[in-house]
Amino acid sequence: MKKQTIAINNPFVRPDAYGALAVPVYNNVAFEFDDAAVMADAFCNRIKAPDYARVENPTVTNFEDRVRALTGAAHVTAFNSGMAAISNTLLAVAEQQKNIVSSHHLFGNTLALLINTLKRFGVEARLRDLTNLEAVADAIDEQTSAVFLEVVTNPQLEVADLKAIAEIAHKKGVPVIADSTVIPFTETHLKELGIDIEVVSSTKYLSGGGTSLGGLVIDYGTFPEINKRVKYDILFNLGAYMTPQAAYMQTLGLETLDVRYQRQAANALWLAQQLSRVVKVNYIGLEDNAYHALARQQFGATSGAMFTIDLESKEACFHFLNRLKLVHRATNLFDSRTLAIHPASTIFGNFKEEQLKAMDVRQTTIRLSIGLEDKEDILADIKQALA
Ligand SMILES: *Cc1c(COP(=O)(O)O)cnc(C)c1O
Repeated sequence: MKKQTIAINNPFVRPDAYGALAVPVYNNVAFEFDDAAVMADAFCNRIKAPDYARVENPTVTNFEDRVRALTGAAHVTAFNSGMAAISNTLLAVAEQQKNIVSSHHLFGNTLALLINTLKRFGVEARLRDLTNLEAVADAIDEQTSAVFLEVVTNPQLEVADLKAIAEIAHKKGVPVIADSTVIPFTETHLKELGIDIEVVSSTKYLSGGGTSLGGLVIDYGTFPEINKRVKYDILFNLGAYMTPQAAYMQTLGLETLDVRYQRQAANALWLAQQLSRVVKVNYIGLEDNAYHALARQQFGATSGAMFTIDLESKEACFHFLNRLKLVHRATNLFDSRTLAIHPASTIFGNFKEEQLKAMDVRQTTIRLSIGLEDKEDILADIKQALA
């Protein structure tokens, strides 16, 4: 079956007692057993049956199963935010005295996790220019636990050569973990490019209307010990599993993901084309973008629904934001509504000026996440605010 059919019709893990058509929300904590031996088997993971909702819940399992059916992954684990999925995965691979190879071009909290939080536990972050393959090869050594990257960085919109990086890492036995939040997994085949684990903030495209926080670890099974650690060590002991309410809303989001995404990506491309006549636009969907060809090759025909524009100064950016009438001044990505933000003063507001420089986060940049509204209305609002 094709993705849109799977997204809607993938069967429940177990049939519902009443034949409910949409997934029921199992809003409970504990599950009862008729038999002590079966109970012991469930607790020790010899059989797959829910016992306690911190580690398994049928509504969440159903959501994980649909994502597994759509991606062909070996294991999918749902967390209660994108940062939980990222931090739990990195904790599963990290060890003191070892290092993680990554980049300065990362989501703000992911960067802070690497350079502040994990550093306190003796984990070294080796931040390199991931578009420079020699620098990547030089950074990886016997002490490297993983390479971590974002498939399209936010907000620089940099695209690394995933296949080349995976080849370099795999030669040294090192897994590649990719944050693929910015392009939905229904569009890509990152496993074929050599990505071992995808981490996703499902808060974004999956929840759609900005209804709920969530994160996914999509594990292709190429480094089996990592999944065991994520599931039975980190998830159990840190307690950041997805809630059934979030899984319910994100299952509904998954059912409409493809139609929403196609519309948002088409809106984004049209708007980027129109706006590039009047302002500097950075979008991987534009043919003159430095990463356009590589993005096409790696992610297919669409280019996501996030782009940035650059104005002359920070003041001009604030003035632009304050004049918007339809577009919302808010963070989040891939909401149904179009959102605008000045990343340097908000998401990255606590970084020092020299750190912002290393991260290529400019005071002149506005990030736009394009929604589902009529594209002409979005354009009219942005143009009046620019004027
Ligand atoms: C939003 C985002 C995250 C964090 O996700 P949360 O669900 O907010 O915790 C991580 N990576 C990227 C690329 C994001 O856009």
